[in-house]
Amino acid sequence: MIRVWQGDITGLDVCAIVNAANRSLLGGGGVDGAIHRAAGPGLLDECRGLGGCETGSAKITGGHGLKARHVIHAVGPVWQGGGQGEAELLAGCYRTAMDLADAAGCRSVAFPAISTGVYGYPPEDAARVAVATLRDWLDGHEGWEVTLVAFDARTADVLQKALEE
Ligand code: ADP
Repeated sequence: MIRVWQGDITGLDVCAIVNAANRSLLGGGGVDGAIHRAAGPGLLDECRGLGGCETGSAKITGGHGLKARHVIHAVGPVWQGGGQGEAELLAGCYRTAMDLADAAGCRSVAFPAISTGVYGYPPEDAARVAVATLRDWLDGHEGWEVTLVAFDARTADVLQKALEE
């Protein structure tokens, strides 16, 4: 089951929240900054040991001070016009995050709108990639609750429309 929820991802009581990280995994602005602030310094300490992450992939850590048991740090592509494999890289974030959540024994996971902030991915296109990739992954995996988190009303609307397509 996929649902859209508007608000701050850092407070969600789910097994894993996904972070829109950068390749260093050493913190940044936007949702990344919010997650590190809410989780506390232990999260950054754990991330230091991960050696970064490739674009289009993800790595998992503990949730530290969060309600969520895990944080999955996904590195979305920077939008460069769409001809640089951005869609496949973004899909890779969602697929890898679901694989990692599954391996950690989770059945609930919440995603921010990866790449649609500072990384400039058009929100409508990103929402379509997210929904298609998650539907494909969930086909054959039972009992999951996936939350697409919108920080603002416009993103909530875009995500809801993509779900209804
Ligand atoms: P990226 O660098 O991947 O574009 P950003 O953090 O800049 O990542 O933005 C990704 C999305 O996360 C944007 O839609 C932004 O509005 C949203 N966002 C920012 N803070 C939060 C938060 N606390 N909870 C949920 N979503 C957030």
